[in-house]
Amino acid sequence: MTNSDSYIFTPGPVKIPSYILAIGAEQAPYFRNESFSNILIDCEQLLLNLAAAPVGSRVVFLAASGTGAMEAAVMNLLSTADKAIVINGGGFGQRFVDLCKRHEVAIHDHKPDGENLADTTALNAYDQATALLVNAHETTNGVLYDMAAIGNYCLKNKLLHIVDAISMFVTDEINMTDQHIDALIISSHKGLALPPGLSMVILSPRAIDKVAPAKSLYFNFQNYLEDGLRGQTPFTPTVTILLQLHARLKQIERDTLKHEIDKARHIADYFRKHINAWPLGLYSRFMPNAMTALTPTNGESASNIVKHLAERYNIVVAPNGGALKDSVFRVSHMGDMTTAYVDVLIDALDHYYGVTR
Ligand SMILES: *Cc1c(COP(=O)(O)O)cnc(C)c1O
Repeated sequence: MTNSDSYIFTPGPVKIPSYILAIGAEQAPYFRNESFSNILIDCEQLLLNLAAAPVGSRVVFLAASGTGAMEAAVMNLLSTADKAIVINGGGFGQRFVDLCKRHEVAIHDHKPDGENLADTTALNAYDQATALLVNAHETTNGVLYDMAAIGNYCLKNKLLHIVDAISMFVTDEINMTDQHIDALIISSHKGLALPPGLSMVILSPRAIDKVAPAKSLYFNFQNYLEDGLRGQTPFTPTVTILLQLHARLKQIERDTLKHEIDKARHIADYFRKHINAWPLGLYSRFMPNAMTALTPTNGESASNIVKHLAERYNIVVAPNGGALKDSVFRVSHMGDMTTAYVDVLIDALDHYYGVTR
């Protein structure tokens, strides 16, 4: 059995389309030349368009997982002089808390308790903040925040708005201009449906102004911004994944972003339409198109369901850890999904619960 024989519904890595896999099978080219520079410059422009980045924005390409880009954003954009509101709704919010602490950035640790912050009045309790950090989709519990409301709050309070959009980019709407976002963090292995290893930070002109020399040599944005002007990175980039990114961005440009988001919504709706036949409930009231977080309503442990789907049906859904181990598991709708592919999971859950339709 190979990895290609199992059905994958995890929020990273996600199912990768075959035209992307084919690029991965080729020899990685040398990259310190004009032909690779042109690819990187093209990727930057296509990403700026997709994110609706303000004029003068730039992209930093990092060979790192998403957390590396989160840490790089904290290191390059914030200092001990800042005070950051961190929206800490789950494991990824907690990661921003941990990163700020590690880099001695003072924080207000805001626990939204399952709310999407369409109402931001609770944030008014935090005085003298200079920045706000949020995971647009908190992937551990499937809550999609109201980024328009949070963006307006940041504008009103003049906060540097740093957004981890890793698990909602190209499946759900995000707009750096309308939502007053200064740094948008994205990664290859979620909605972009590429292999893991490449992460990017899109910086608004306001964020670029705030970039200060980082203590880290590898993650020093100034070098990336300077080298990026000629389509290069200071260190070896994820050459193959960048070629895959280029092909993927061209495909999205051809099909349009709207089509991409509509497709994710269609897949999510299709799956959700079947849930009420199973002893499973929706865990989040504010679901993205990217993913559905489910909770058993019959007392069965969620981790048990995850185990049985893998062992009996060769289907990989995402377990939760820690306090949510028994109460939550997650089904991703990101990547190269079709309704026929989702049917495999629906049929398995029907069989598991003895449902006949
Ligand atoms: C997947 C993910 C990350 C990145 O995690 P890595 O394991 O470092 O790639 C960050 N934030 C969110 C919201 C995610 O879903």
